[in-house]
Amino acid sequence: MQKPKEECGVFGVSLNTNEAVGITYNGLLALQHRGQEGAGIACVCVEENDIHIKKDLGLVKEVFTTKSILDMPPSNVAIGHVRYSTTGFNTRQNVAPFLADYLTGRLAVAHNGNITNAKELRVELKKLGIRFAATTDSEVIAQLIAYYTTTEKRTLSGVKKACEKLEGACSLVVASGKNKLIAVRDSNGFRPLCIGKSDSGIAVASESCALESGGFEFLRDVAPGEIVVIENGEIVAEGIQLRDKQAGKGLCIFEFVYFSRPDSIIDGLSVYESRYNMGQILAKEHPVEADIVCGVPDSGMEAAIGYSAMSGIPLAFGFVKNRYLGRSFIYPTQTERDAAVKLKLNPLRANVSGKRVVLVDDSIVRGTTIGKIVKSLKDAGASEVHIRVSSPPFKYSCGYGTDIDSEENLIANQMSTEEICQKIGADTLGYISLEGLIEACNKCSVEFCTACFKK
Ligand code: SF4
Repeated sequence: MQKPKEECGVFGVSLNTNEAVGITYNGLLALQHRGQEGAGIACVCVEENDIHIKKDLGLVKEVFTTKSILDMPPSNVAIGHVRYSTTGFNTRQNVAPFLADYLTGRLAVAHNGNITNAKELRVELKKLGIRFAATTDSEVIAQLIAYYTTTEKRTLSGVKKACEKLEGACSLVVASGKNKLIAVRDSNGFRPLCIGKSDSGIAVASESCALESGGFEFLRDVAPGEIVVIENGEIVAEGIQLRDKQAGKGLCIFEFVYFSRPDSIIDGLSVYESRYNMGQILAKEHPVEADIVCGVPDSGMEAAIGYSAMSGIPLAFGFVKNRYLGRSFIYPTQTERDAAVKLKLNPLRANVSGKRVVLVDDSIVRGTTIGKIVKSLKDAGASEVHIRVSSPPFKYSCGYGTDIDSEENLIANQMSTEEICQKIGADTLGYISLEGLIEACNKCSVEFCTACFKK
């Protein structure tokens, strides 16, 4: 694994027009960076009190064609999901959204996060006779909500009761066959979720960039622990509270470092601004004499701009990135894997040759990729390579919706900074401090989770 992967992105709309499927498709395209393994859309057909669904493995544009979108019924309410698997296998059955039947209807659920007590809940539901088609925690959530919607006789009460049972990270959108859209963010607010408004209705998305892509103006974030109910393109209930937040837990700070798009604003803080700040703080914490500053594309670029601005060292492009490889980028042998880094990221010899280079990256996980990048810069003639990292050393794995590797595979869990520097072949290596990272994100309105950096 080269970088930690986000588990998913979610999108939902409730409109006063019947274009919910097309708008959800656009929203998913904007969230594609959050998951590339599968995509799906579920839309409500009120006349039938039913929900139609299309989902499959692949990128959004591979799963949906113009025809397949037009084949879905005209709809006021739809939800969508892009998946990266951290629980359950990467199979078609595990692609979301998930449908579940309750006594008088059907609902669909799309979820971002990891439910840490999903196994126990699955066993409880199985004892009640509920059957599962997939192995993912998202299906457990859907079945739990359906179960409580039956016992509570109302969708909202069912959602609330089910969400009170969930442990872990959970930002979700629920569509009911009765044309409701419900948005929920867990009490700790691990994963982002925000609301936008347009003349045609309300949208809910993992990131604000997806709202803007669909023509929605950002309204606000869903608060940690909040349930919001939307009907006919209007918010009809908000501020419904789940249980209290747990001490020391909060929004995943890695959303700012790497996961989210730089044009998104999360809980009051621009992702771009936070990364720029990280670069500035890195320059103060780890200054070095050099000729140029380069960023590792894409998510190291903003921090590189900040490093350059604070240090006065000119910013330069260090690499050309091949943007057309997609997932056809398969490299089964070690020789091919070595070549793959260059195929994806080739150094710009004209800029780096003979130069002392500061190279800014967002994170180091196993250290294998950054080692190859350092070598490629030196092969291209760089006289020195100084690595600066805009997140602290990754020491612990994550249980809240990312696939940060097991601890024995995290290089910072096994080696000191000096040993890592030597192993990757850099001249110097400097990580931002945890205090520095938090300072870079200090305009954010909520508390952070930083558990992969510090226990
Ligand atoms: Fe994010 Fe790390 Fe917390 Fe996981 S442990 S939610 S990656 S900050």
